[in-house]
Amino acid sequence: MELLYPVENDIDRAVEILKKGGIVAFPTETVYGIGCDAFNEKAVERLYEIKKRSRDKPLIVGVGSFEEIYEIAEVNEVAEILIKEFFPGSLTLVLKNKKIPSIVTANSQKVAVRMPSHEIPLKLIRKLGRPVVVPSANISGRPSPTKFEHVLSDFGESIDAIIIGECQIGIESTILDVTVSPPKLLRPGAVSTEALKKFVDLEVGEDTFGQYEISAEVLVFTGRGVEEEIKKFLAKRKNAVVIAKKNIYGERVIEVGETLESYAMNFFDALRKAESMGAEVILVEGIEEKGIGEAIMHRLYRCARNVIRV
Ligand code: AMP
Ligand code: MG
Repeated sequence: MELLYPVENDIDRAVEILKKGGIVAFPTETVYGIGCDAFNEKAVERLYEIKKRSRDKPLIVGVGSFEEIYEIAEVNEVAEILIKEFFPGSLTLVLKNKKIPSIVTANSQKVAVRMPSHEIPLKLIRKLGRPVVVPSANISGRPSPTKFEHVLSDFGESIDAIIIGECQIGIESTILDVTVSPPKLLRPGAVSTEALKKFVDLEVGEDTFGQYEISAEVLVFTGRGVEEEIKKFLAKRKNAVVIAKKNIYGERVIEVGETLESYAMNFFDALRKAESMGAEVILVEGIEEKGIGEAIMHRLYRCARNVIRV
């Protein structure tokens, strides 16, 4: 496994690895991604294996240009409006597939397409000259990685390279299926539902995302009495770690910051930190479900044994 830096020579090395059917992890504006050539079925197969990802869970395909979208998928009117508005960036559109291999789409007639805005994946895809699958760089079921250390701890030597760099938002892309009318929101994410609703009427799809595997019991607190309630819990539970916007609780506390943006960027890392501190219980202060807060809470519900509304 090679550790690479975001310099031209190293990007070229990563492209060479991708060309040979290798697997490379890289920062994106959402979370750390892991990719291979979307047309190399053997590489894609190995990626599913390494991620321990179920074969019926299709992969998002990253493209480097607008032409590439039209090459691999059918772009309807709604898609055109959204592409114009949100690409490149953290919106993934589910479109009718034209030529992406069925192993990538899990045999569906549709393909999920995203054009990252982060310069590292953009360069990789453009220099390779082919689309790259871009799932998150974690073992399936684990919280998404936002730092290269998370990728290293999940995969170690089993992948070919990691490019060291920074993510920007900290939450995965928003996924919208525009092959149906009205378009269906499959996953809230970095692009808020409010922002999308300015351009399309959408319907919220059924939540198909399972619970995260975390080595502690996670309790999420929401409402006005959060601080008092967490203090009460802390008095009872010894091996607890708190994830809080600001530390008003004591020693075993991880701060994620008080803005929606800092919360988004820090909370996946905070979860992994709390685990490594040996927490038996992780007490998490929730956040208001507006803007990216909606996606943050969606992820927190996927961690939570219990949601305590006070
Ligand atoms: P991730 O877990 O971030 O790799 O995102 C993958 C998710 O994107 C899947 O679980 C689906 O919800 C969605 N997705 C990807 N490809 C497709 C597809 N071909 N059709 C429908 N949804 C898709
Ligand atoms: Mg993922």
